[in-house]
Amino acid sequence: MKNYDYIAIGGGSGGVATARRAAEYGARALVVEAGRLGGTCVNVGCVPKKVMWYAAGIAQTLRDAPGYGFSMGEVHFDWNTLKAHRDAYITRLNGIYASMLDKAGVDVVRGFARFVDPRTIEVDGERFSAPHIVIATGGRPLVPDIPGAELGIDSDGFFALEQQPRRVAVVGAGYIAVELAGVFNGLGSEVSMLVRGPHLLRPFDAMLRDELMAQMQEDGVRLHFGTQLRGVSRQADGTLRLDCGDGGMLEVDALVWATGRRANTGALRLEAAGLAADDKGVIATDAFQNTTVPGIYAIGDITGRAELTPVAIAAGRRLAARLFLNQPDSRLDYDTIPTVIFSHPPIGTVGLTEDEARSRLADVKVYTTRFTGMYHALTEHRPKTAMKLVCAGPEERIVGAHVIGDGADEMLQGFAVAVKMGARKADFDDTIAIHPTSAEEFVTMR
Ligand SMILES: Cc1cc2nc3c(=O)[nH]c(=O)nc-3n(C[C@H](O)[C@H](O)[C@H](O)COP(=O)(O)OP(=O)(O)OC[C@H]3O[C@@H](n4cnc5c(N)ncnc54)[C@H](O)[C@@H]3O)c2cc1C
Repeated sequence: MKNYDYIAIGGGSGGVATARRAAEYGARALVVEAGRLGGTCVNVGCVPKKVMWYAAGIAQTLRDAPGYGFSMGEVHFDWNTLKAHRDAYITRLNGIYASMLDKAGVDVVRGFARFVDPRTIEVDGERFSAPHIVIATGGRPLVPDIPGAELGIDSDGFFALEQQPRRVAVVGAGYIAVELAGVFNGLGSEVSMLVRGPHLLRPFDAMLRDELMAQMQEDGVRLHFGTQLRGVSRQADGTLRLDCGDGGMLEVDALVWATGRRANTGALRLEAAGLAADDKGVIATDAFQNTTVPGIYAIGDITGRAELTPVAIAAGRRLAARLFLNQPDSRLDYDTIPTVIFSHPPIGTVGLTEDEARSRLADVKVYTTRFTGMYHALTEHRPKTAMKLVCAGPEERIVGAHVIGDGADEMLQGFAVAVKMGARKADFDDTIAIHPTSAEEFVTMR
């Protein structure tokens, strides 16, 4: 048995961050990782997704170029070359993660961890123990249980695709569905989105949803709302036939499930530690990431809250400070977390939606604007930019800021600081605009 001060189960965003900080504060820390270092974000999430988003953006820029006087020759795109370059980048990142842990003095054990008791885990027959164990095992894609579901791929399978499918169906309405559909469409596949309900991006502000739906449709994505797949079969020529119910059929070369994720807690032998997960695999935690068992904590996607990389990292770092830097109040504030959806065009959002604000707060006032960004004054493709500020109370404190449009992804971080600090509309009005930008509209709305 090897003894540590701190064990992180999972070497993804949360596990790596918390172990590094703990080691910096003097703890003997261990990370156990069953797969590739960096977890979902680095290997099958944020990073390869953003590379694909950039690629789709380049395709769009090439289509826009004639408006700026460029005459374009024949342009070739090779999915497989892009994949090879992307894979090489991720392999480099895996190495960087390994050396960061090594430099920080964190031990790494490769293998699948299971609990033996609340202080001990087992990895391939070897035991490790610590007074503090954090579970950071993330999640995996969830595929519905219908006949032929296995003929489709999930987001992990998307990143493994060697060839670009000509016709593809993406099932789901969340941000991953929207992002993958946008990439395929941007790179020239024919895309159908199959959505059970009446909207994309249900929890987001209605303005963002409506603008995105309109833009995706204008860009050629076929949106099928109120559609629930009944079954999938492979035809003799290799194509997939999707039974959409009520006699509706769709023929595609690839089917992508983006229908949610499930926490990776099933095989951890939680019961040996006296812990339990809910029916989605989520482990309940309090505001300090404590589980119901003293000395066992959970961070990141398995806690079922704001499933984002910076959230897992921040929760892990604050937990390390609480346990090993004598900062008993250190914890993550889960309010007002900004996020970006890498759709086409991208979305940036922080704080309450207009509907949430109206149902929870008094004196809600909303400012909106909608325009064509200057870049598109010369292009044939003219997506709109739309913004909304949601204010509340007599002081018009800004409780929500939402934007869809080119540059939204880079625009929102600074505004998120202002919203988090409690900025009022008057503070925005007092700020001089930066011209000519799209972002300036955030401080000139009336
Ligand atoms: C397609 C996609 C796109 C995304 N895009 C973004 C984005 O743009 N921005 C953003 O902020 N977030 C994004 N996310 C979400 C982000 O990836 C996650 O929120 C983040 O990775 C969660 O970190 P984590 O530490 O909780 O888990 P993970 O990063 O998933 O790490 C968990 C690790 O634990 C390992 N593991 C599991 N069980 C065991 C075990 N028993 N023993 C040992 N190891 C184990 C796994 O192999 C994995 O490496 C995206 C996710 C997906 C799927």
